[in-house]
Amino acid sequence: MTMKSHKQTSEIYLDANATTPVLPEAAEAVKNAMNNLYGNPSSSHITGLRAKHLLETTRLLAQQAIQAASGELIFTSGATEGIHTAIFSALTHLKNQSNGKAPSLLYGSTEHKAVPETLHHWNKALGLNAEIIAIPVDEKGLIDLEFLAKHIDQAGLVCTMAVNNETGAIQDLEAIKNTLRENDGDTLWLVDSVQALGKVPLNLEELTVDYSCFSGHKLYCPKGIGMLYIREDAPFTPLIVGGGQEHGFRSGTENIPGIAALGEVLKLITEKNSRFRNDEELKSFQEKLVSTLKAGFPDIIFNTPFDNAVATTINFSVKGFPSKEIMDLFDAAQIRVSSGSACSSKAKSSFVLDAMGIPKWQSESAIRLSFGPATTAQEIDEACSRIKLASKALEK
Ligand code: PLP
Repeated sequence: MTMKSHKQTSEIYLDANATTPVLPEAAEAVKNAMNNLYGNPSSSHITGLRAKHLLETTRLLAQQAIQAASGELIFTSGATEGIHTAIFSALTHLKNQSNGKAPSLLYGSTEHKAVPETLHHWNKALGLNAEIIAIPVDEKGLIDLEFLAKHIDQAGLVCTMAVNNETGAIQDLEAIKNTLRENDGDTLWLVDSVQALGKVPLNLEELTVDYSCFSGHKLYCPKGIGMLYIREDAPFTPLIVGGGQEHGFRSGTENIPGIAALGEVLKLITEKNSRFRNDEELKSFQEKLVSTLKAGFPDIIFNTPFDNAVATTINFSVKGFPSKEIMDLFDAAQIRVSSGSACSSKAKSSFVLDAMGIPKWQSESAIRLSFGPATTAQEIDEACSRIKLASKALEK
């Protein structure tokens, strides 16, 4: 995106699924909060109440953006904390309920590593000793619903994601809901909505999701701010206790500058402001990039299931070129992309693509190019001309 602070490097940043730059409006809101809303929202004087007003108006915007008027919406440090809070709550409840054998814990095999790692962590730390089972996915990254239906009777918690961070694949949450609620209404359900916010419509209350996590820095906010939605009546045990902030759900003085930034971005989502491109425009960006990549790299194969994915993520492999070589080529052209998942850059192959049954060479050579809803047509055009030049260099 075009931002003053990035202009001097003339880099084209196409790694939005790893993190995004801060939107100027969000940065301005941070500055304003630091200068003027420095009060503690728990203080009862006017300075505190001003901060509290920002906190509560942002909470309302968030509830509107995810369509969940009831239940709790709390601010966290990011999605990893949200995942921990949700899983800790669910597993504490399951431990208290279990009489002998613990129910199993299911998660989609393409979930971000934070989900299975957190399941293993709290399963061990709480001494639940539940069986943790990965749900297989098909070649489009969709959860195997038959597998889910078969295992649901024994399950205490199911963790799935709304949009995959490596491929952009959109999960069929409605179908998961039907399978879950038809077979066993009580199973707790965590949905990781990190890559979905601002990109696909969310209707979490209607979906009967119990917990859902979000991360501000994936959508133009600074690092260190996130949200967790908790359905009304979903079991909850706070992970962080202390001063009783966030209705006792998450103690610690709130990150008001981060919340101010989130508020600005949530406004853009809920107001359908022209600052964020619409679906059609984003699709046209995707088509431009895809046709440029195809022309520049004739041996390219796309790993993103385009008919079932957000327009903002393009995952591809080029036969004969390990991801490192393509990454270096793009880097030299001042285009920032990542190999597979930026969050696990040490992995040789992508466990997400492996789970989708994609051939090994593609998984090992995968490149992820991702942009956000605030990306401009000029940036995409510039990226395409640089990709054209870079691919010519590769030919030589
Ligand atoms: N879930 C998904 C789908 C993600 O893409 C990420 C970050 O890459 C996370 C969770 C973790 O987010 P954070 O590092 O902001 O806590």
